[in-house]
Amino acid sequence: MESADLITKAENTWCPGCGNFGIEHTLKDVVAGLIAGGTPAERIVLVTGIGCHGKMADYLGVNSFYAIHGRTLPVATGIKIANPELTVLVCAGDGDCYGEGLEHLLFAAKRNVDLTLIVHDNRVYGLTTGQYTPTSPLGFPGRSTPLGTPEYPLNPLELMIAAGATWVGRGYSRRLPQLHELIAAGIRHRGFSFLDVFQICATFYNQSKFYDEHVYDLEAGKFPTADLDAALHAAREFDYSRESRIPLGIFYETTFPTYGERLAGERAKETDPVGVMQRMIAERT
Ligand code: SF4
Repeated sequence: MESADLITKAENTWCPGCGNFGIEHTLKDVVAGLIAGGTPAERIVLVTGIGCHGKMADYLGVNSFYAIHGRTLPVATGIKIANPELTVLVCAGDGDCYGEGLEHLLFAAKRNVDLTLIVHDNRVYGLTTGQYTPTSPLGFPGRSTPLGTPEYPLNPLELMIAAGATWVGRGYSRRLPQLHELIAAGIRHRGFSFLDVFQICATFYNQSKFYDEHVYDLEAGKFPTADLDAALHAAREFDYSRESRIPLGIFYETTFPTYGERLAGERAKETDPVGVMQRMIAERT
């Protein structure tokens, strides 16, 4: 299996220079590797949301599902619970996932659903021609905020670490070998793996120069860490100002029973519910 085998007949309509191309090619490489390694193609499912990223469902030749806006994660959760044998991948946008779908994002992390979420974080609504999203910077002069948005951006990595995600990383659509490693590691992780990818929107918010000058790799040996404080400290380093550096890599990784495992009743055999809760808290901290 080669990544070229996963090319579909759908016409690609992304803008020239769009960062989605890099994510698409990288994801195809990773999926081709999974299949070559023995995962049956029919056991790989991709769920996408609404936005430019959503066309991944058309361009990647595996089973796929277009969810409605912000609803990738409930759909993906249902798929994984219905058939735990499936490898479930989710592509969502920053507006899709951090705006319309924020509640679902928090609960997927909290539940530790065993799936891999890749957020195409271009920090703008590209499909609807340039409105601000939850990760646009203060003062962003989008179509809906010609005088500049008065809102500060949220930090999705900080949010995910706090919400209970058991694997949290950040990649960049112009650093593809590293992105390959990150996606593959996220898929290998058992539990909820969250990968925010700074994706260049060439048409409405091209930050290539800024990212190229500010990204760096998290220190090997220190990261990934299971230390919540250390992970949060690293996640806060990029404060969305034009001065701060931007760490890339895996910030946080830990193990914890997945939502499916707990649903399957592994814990239901316990006769002491208080003891179960105490042990789960101890495992989590
Ligand atoms: Fe890519 Fe932006 Fe064009 Fe959408 S609008 S296809 S995100 S460059």
